Amino acid sequence: MSEQMCDTIAAIATPNAPGGIGILRISGESAIIIAERMFFQKETINWSRWNGYSMHYGVIADKLSAGNERIDEAICLVFRSPKSYTGEDVVEFSCHGGQLILRRVLRLALAAGARLAAPGEFTRRAFLNGRINLAEAEAVMRLIQAQTEDAARAATATLGGTLSRAIDEVRTLLIRQAAQISAWMDYPEDEPTDLLELRPKQISANLAAAHQKLHDLMQKSDAAVPLLDGVETVLIGKPNVGKSTLMNLLAGFERSIVTEFAGTTRDTVTEAVHLGSLPLRLTDTAGIHAAQNPIERLGVERSHAAAASAALLLLLLDASQPLTEEDETLLTTCNPARTILLCNKADLGQAFDLAPLRTRFTHVIPFSAATGLGLEALTQAIEALLGTGDVSPWEALLSTERQRGCAADALTALDAAIQAHAEGFPLDAVAVCIEDAIQALYALTGERATEAIVDEVFATFCVGK
Ligand code: GDP
Repeated sequence: MSEQMCDTIAAIATPNAPGGIGILRISGESAIIIAERMFFQKETINWSRWNGYSMHYGVIADKLSAGNERIDEAICLVFRSPKSYTGEDVVEFSCHGGQLILRRVLRLALAAGARLAAPGEFTRRAFLNGRINLAEAEAVMRLIQAQTEDAARAATATLGGTLSRAIDEVRTLLIRQAAQISAWMDYPEDEPTDLLELRPKQISANLAAAHQKLHDLMQKSDAAVPLLDGVETVLIGKPNVGKSTLMNLLAGFERSIVTEFAGTTRDTVTEAVHLGSLPLRLTDTAGIHAAQNPIERLGVERSHAAAASAALLLLLLDASQPLTEEDETLLTTCNPARTILLCNKADLGQAFDLAPLRTRFTHVIPFSAATGLGLEALTQAIEALLGTGDVSPWEALLSTERQRGCAADALTALDAAIQAHAEGFPLDAVAVCIEDAIQALYALTGERATEAIVDEVFATFCVGK
């Protein structure tokens, strides 16, 4: 155990704002002793008789102050090692949620022998004590930061072990294969080898199975990105086609100004909205057209920039009027692979034929931002275009760049193993590649992650978590 791990740490675990309840968390070997120095009841407390998962009402007081100053009434929760969040003895004080009170309670804990916890240090201890692995620690952070229900579901699933189990399954397959090869290579040449059968076809099949599982995991995870992190989406179309009306419909409130006058939206406006379960970061652009006035021109330039970087473009056409030259320009500049055509104002009729557009764009939807006609079709089109339709947040998913990087390393090593085996390289060369893949998977779950990587993961955490 490192010297740092021997310290008992303390931090305020609730947000830095007034609230009904505020929690001070203490973890480490001396957690109970420190609690004893600051928490009192009418009767003398026999701390050794307090079990883990028990809860006690009492008073937090400053013994060193004149008159033993009472700071707050509190509930003390006791967790005994190893059955706690960190795996150590943990005491939590639920106090009144005033910042001043909480800071005084924290100072008392520090004066009683605790050290102020670093960001993420409680979770880091849970990781170092083997309570959770590194991917699960990352899920804790993603759960705290989740902005959508699916992002929270995915983090909960990872915390429940879906990803760890999927990785473990591939790793076990590879470890067995590597062990078999190594036993074969170590086998004395003059002994009969019929006890140990090593079939090249079986090796190929095992490597292919591991490769397939990892490949599927990466593909599913890529498809889940929009679901978990949101999709950069840009509304484009000539002025007055109904972009702001659509923005307001999806935002559920008047986010953009709607008038019958063209060119009202002079700048880009961005809002997080939901379409079904899909989180979109929706940007309403100034209508892309040949603007005269310099302010409008600036707005149009920003629109071009937003459209160029967006994952999804919703191009609005005015269904009630014949297509114009401006529409045609937009139709030729928008990439069909990431564009959905909305023939808006369909409630006023359909003035042009949709068939020729359907030969150029997969998704052409009669739509009305005024009545909501076509919203269901739009949701389905987005799911189809982004490939999110059959992704579930409850299945095993890679959710951070670090995890994706490790899985990609493992896949590269497996590719090399498969190739070496196919080309008839000696088995020890194949075994080296398999070992690389195993190491990359250990790095993913953190068993073999370097100190620097572990530091980087926990650096993004907040104090108290
Ligand atoms: P923008 O310039 O593209 O943002 O267009 P706006 O959203 O400001 O809409 C321009 C005008 O078209 C406003 O008077 C809207 O009320 C009207 N409008 C927008 N969408 C529809 C629609 O689907 N049907 C009808 N009938 N009018 C619409």
